[in-house]
Amino acid sequence: MDFSGFEKLSLLDYDKHIASSLFVAGCDFRCPWCHNSSLVLDPASAPSIPWEDILSFFRKRRGMIEGVCITGGEPTLMPDLMEKIAELKSLGYLVKLDTNGSRPLVLRRALESGLIDYVAMDIKNAPSRYARTAGLSALDIRPIEESVSLLLSGGVDFEFRTTIVEEFHDEEAMKEIRDWIKGAPRYFLQRYIDGPNCIRSGFHMVEKEKASAWLALLSGYVGTASLRGYD
Ligand code: SF4
Repeated sequence: MDFSGFEKLSLLDYDKHIASSLFVAGCDFRCPWCHNSSLVLDPASAPSIPWEDILSFFRKRRGMIEGVCITGGEPTLMPDLMEKIAELKSLGYLVKLDTNGSRPLVLRRALESGLIDYVAMDIKNAPSRYARTAGLSALDIRPIEESVSLLLSGGVDFEFRTTIVEEFHDEEAMKEIRDWIKGAPRYFLQRYIDGPNCIRSGFHMVEKEKASAWLALLSGYVGTASLRGYD
């Protein structure tokens, strides 16, 4: 399976690193505010970028680009994900994996491989609201819980992050999330941005003051809690 998107230079996708981003087509969620709707809803029509072309780029950029962010879509759906990551690591790149946490077996394999430097996992909402927030009619939350536990107990650096949307999140949800992810090294509340590429548009961002108040609820529960996208 090939990657379907390649951003050669990204200063946003891998904090504190000059990185490139690789996009996997397809996802098992349908988060309404997802900005990669074409990749998620119609993966069969997504571009296919030859792996050799990507490797050739990275062979020439050693020393200039520090890391690679594997994102999507949902990267853990890619059958040969670990083989590709191993090739990137052999070239000396840091690798960050973005995931929605729905496939804990793949995540476990990735964490145990020693090939992943950083994981960013979405916490879509409090467990009781997960299905609706992920755009699904029903969802077994147990795989997500397993992925949260894996990261909390593992030796790979990571973050949890929640895109907060006025119609989906509130203080009660934040308290549930807080209790769930207690002990995480870092947690981000990300600003929702509406746009034409969203799976569904028309929702509302949470104002900065309210988001800051929610952050305060996290104090003492996670290493650092920060806003992202509110500057
Ligand atoms: S936001 Fe992430 S998990 Fe949600 S539909 Fe988009 S790619 Fe999938």
